[in-house]
Amino acid sequence: MGEAQSQDFAAQRAGMVAEDDAMYAETKSETGLAAMSPAVRAAMGKVERHRLVADGHRGAAYRNHPLPIGGGQTISQPYIVALSTDLLNLKGGEIVLDVGTGSGYQAAILAEIASRVFSIEIIDSLGKAAAKRLQELGYGNIEVKIGDGYKGWPEKGPFDGIVVTAAAPQVPRALVEQLKPGGRMVIPVGGSGDIQYLKLLVKRADGGYDEKGILPVRFVPLVPGKS
Ligand code: SAH
Repeated sequence: MGEAQSQDFAAQRAGMVAEDDAMYAETKSETGLAAMSPAVRAAMGKVERHRLVADGHRGAAYRNHPLPIGGGQTISQPYIVALSTDLLNLKGGEIVLDVGTGSGYQAAILAEIASRVFSIEIIDSLGKAAAKRLQELGYGNIEVKIGDGYKGWPEKGPFDGIVVTAAAPQVPRALVEQLKPGGRMVIPVGGSGDIQYLKLLVKRADGGYDEKGILPVRFVPLVPGKS
């Protein structure tokens, strides 16, 4: 890619961050977050989203709307990625689980802040392509596996944070179990025809959790695994 083109992408990325700022301000009363945290803002300004989306969509990579990624899947708008990351309240050093690797963009944003990110994708071709691109981009702290995110990744847990980027009819129990006490999970909950709510869960010391509905959202459904 030429110098001029990568400068153009950098300018588009700065524009995307400015739009995300505006959306934070608009949704402040619902989300309780007045502004993007400095860590999330830095990650959003750095990750080269155009290198994670399919070639044909590079020109649209920084627009604030969902994008198709193949396999009938779409990836969330950047604002939702920023918001989900902020809701985890990461300070650095955490171990995070990302369910629904897709393009790998959410995993990359998390990996800019957390120390390790484990990401699960159920569609073989998508997971493999994302793992390859993330490796090319130098994300040695992200591990991708092909599998069913409903089950989480117990061998790598418990986790400080979990982000689920496909909607589940209910909060998967295995994921709650793999959260540390005090750990946070952001997950869209609702059936595919229903209104889904992005929820924030905070695990209690007694093993239960407190939850808060953040925003109505629309995500692709979390596909139930075969086994
Ligand atoms: N976080 C992604 C976008 C995710 S789109 C990104 O930043 O690009 C939702 C993804 O979840 C799709 O790739 C879909 O294949 C995957 N998915 C659906 N059901 C799943 C399941 N049970 N386990 C793991 N991944 C699943």
